[in-house]
Amino acid sequence: MSGAARRVLVLGGTAEARALAALLVEVPGTVVVSSLAGRVADPRLPVGEVRIGGFGGAAGLARWLSAQRIDAVVDATHPYAARMRVAAIEAARAAGVPHVRLERPGWTAQPGDRWYRVADVDAAVRALPTLGRRVLLTTGRQSLAAFLPLTGVRILARVVDAPVEPIPPHVRLLRSRGPYTVEGELELMRAHDIDVVVTKDSGGPLTEAKLVAARRLDLPVLMIDRPKPPVLPAVVHTADEAAGWLAGLPAAQPG
Ligand code: NAP
Repeated sequence: MSGAARRVLVLGGTAEARALAALLVEVPGTVVVSSLAGRVADPRLPVGEVRIGGFGGAAGLARWLSAQRIDAVVDATHPYAARMRVAAIEAARAAGVPHVRLERPGWTAQPGDRWYRVADVDAAVRALPTLGRRVLLTTGRQSLAAFLPLTGVRILARVVDAPVEPIPPHVRLLRSRGPYTVEGELELMRAHDIDVVVTKDSGGPLTEAKLVAARRLDLPVLMIDRPKPPVLPAVVHTADEAAGWLAGLPAAQPG
């Protein structure tokens, strides 16, 4: 490639973002900077440059893009990172930088699945007592608080890091991080006599085993839909597609 190195910001926190960083460090003339929010105490780090912490909203990110002379933004944050996704679009537009959203597809129900889809966490809290009493809650630390006031249920909450809020006696924390196996999920659900699973529609293979296990055990799954984006950017679904999108951009200009 002629001209200056292309500087790519990958907004990360996902397996796809790490996969993309691994692809891009091998591309001559490309510098990849991955960004993490800093939510997890001991994050899995991508290869290449990494920065950690918020930018201060869309305006802060736009300033950062210009100051760092970023040539392209790939927003590979989690499908439920709703604020960052909007800020990335606004900041890229303000800074005049090409932007694409890298988002893995959601899961698709298979024969035998008993999925109940709801729009958001509040709807899941309302629906949960109608589906079961012994809950495996896998929606993460940030949404845990909404489920804590529920009475008449017993909750096994799987989280990467412990939440700061006090945990009531009917909630038990299980600290762990995927990927998970079907055998492991079956064992967990049987050991805790789980009768309903609550999940986001995160998609991807790393946390899919709980859905297979729930199907085998004929358990209902309360599936919280992805937040609907207010604006629809260009979207790709895999790290390879994102790398292809970057390769199709005009070469970076020396500056
Ligand atoms: P969010 O609600 O959309 O973002 C909240 C704020 O966190 C943003 O406004 C931004 O702060 C900061 N932020 C988010 N992602 C960032 C990144 N990659 N780099 C720098 N700052 C970032 O996001 P979230 O749901 O809290 O998710 C935070 C991170 O965890 C993301 O990297 C996401 O990929 C990852 N993650 C989220 C989930 C989930 O279920 N939500 C699951 C797995 C992983 P400023 O406004 O200060 O810039």
